[in-house]
Amino acid sequence: MKIGCPKEIKPQEFRVGLTPSAAQEATAHGHTVVMQRGAGVGAGFDDAAYEAAGARIVDTAEEVFAKADMIVKVKEPQAVERKMLREGQVLFTYLHLAPDPEQTKDLLASGCTAIAYETVTDASGGLPLLAPMSEVAGKLAPQVGAWTLQKANGGRGVLMGGVPGVGPAQVVVIGGGVVGTHAARVAAGMGADVTVLDRSLPRMRYLDDVFGGTFRTRYASRSNIAELITGADMVVGAVLIPGAAAPKLVSKADLSTMKPGAVLVDVAIDQGGCFETSKPTTHEDPIYEVDGVMHYCVANMPGAVARTSTIALGNATMPYMLSLADKGWQQACADDPHLLNGLNVHAGKLTYYAVGKALGIDV
Ligand code: NAD
Repeated sequence: MKIGCPKEIKPQEFRVGLTPSAAQEATAHGHTVVMQRGAGVGAGFDDAAYEAAGARIVDTAEEVFAKADMIVKVKEPQAVERKMLREGQVLFTYLHLAPDPEQTKDLLASGCTAIAYETVTDASGGLPLLAPMSEVAGKLAPQVGAWTLQKANGGRGVLMGGVPGVGPAQVVVIGGGVVGTHAARVAAGMGADVTVLDRSLPRMRYLDDVFGGTFRTRYASRSNIAELITGADMVVGAVLIPGAAAPKLVSKADLSTMKPGAVLVDVAIDQGGCFETSKPTTHEDPIYEVDGVMHYCVANMPGAVARTSTIALGNATMPYMLSLADKGWQQACADDPHLLNGLNVHAGKLTYYAVGKALGIDV
């Protein structure tokens, strides 16, 4: 199969769909890999690394789309890319179609077969191609929060780990899933005093078993959240209710109970945010202040560490990419119902129920 990987063109997107290592695996399986020149530069992979992996370099995205049987990307295809998709071509990337009727319309019109990273599942009910980005965002949250806590950035001037004779920062993490667990581990590793709140007792049992000595857990009742945020230097929002907007767990009125210069890091901002005062920000202008409390609400946090994120995503997507290339998408999806769950669009038809429901299109 011919596998094509164009350079990402969404603003501030530095990741790339194929690492040189993934390209090498694909060529070792007998496939042809066609990379757009400079596609990996944002993630620190030069063209020579892809050539050494056996890939062919072409100058334009048009050539990649024209030559490839399957396109492997990171972000959803932009309007100009959607025009280059054709009937029978496989597209393997993040799509997030539910809030995006324009993209859905174009993918249906193209006749392509689109398999979305975010709806591929695994045997434990998880989302294996979303998890690596949650791991990255979770580990970044205390890092960006610690920076925001610095006086020059509007924070209250508290060092995460304290120093001998001075206590550590108080960090509260709401939601103890993938993001929350990684955030809590890093915050605790920086020496902060960390509490994780969740509503799932099985999840808290797991966290307590594994991390009992590192951070503590509390049930995410309204009263516990209200109590804990008053003493917090940093609050990380990491809740997810699958398929729904994030619940607002800290209101504007609650901010007046918090310490001036405390920091809210709303990782759940891509689902609308779990603090009432959250609004999406960018890496160029990541923080703002409301009622004396600093907010960090970057919706694509993994982009800050494009190299780590690219390699992490590549590790997760590679087995599926190889299966699609080796067997063809029909057989690969027939053999693996979890990969089949990734199928969102085929030959002008929407094939994913939740997307159809969200957009009012028959599936
Ligand atoms: P997850 O499903 O692994 O974990 C979510 C946790 O929230 C679960 O443990 C669940 O029990 C808990 N929860 C649900 N409702 C709750 C409530 N009312 N109170 C307390 N806990 C509650 O999800 P995840 O992978 O950790 O993702 C968390 C959020 O981070 C999602 O919105 C995801 O889209 C977002 N995210 C954002 C970025 C970014 O760049 N901003 C990157 C990756 C993930």
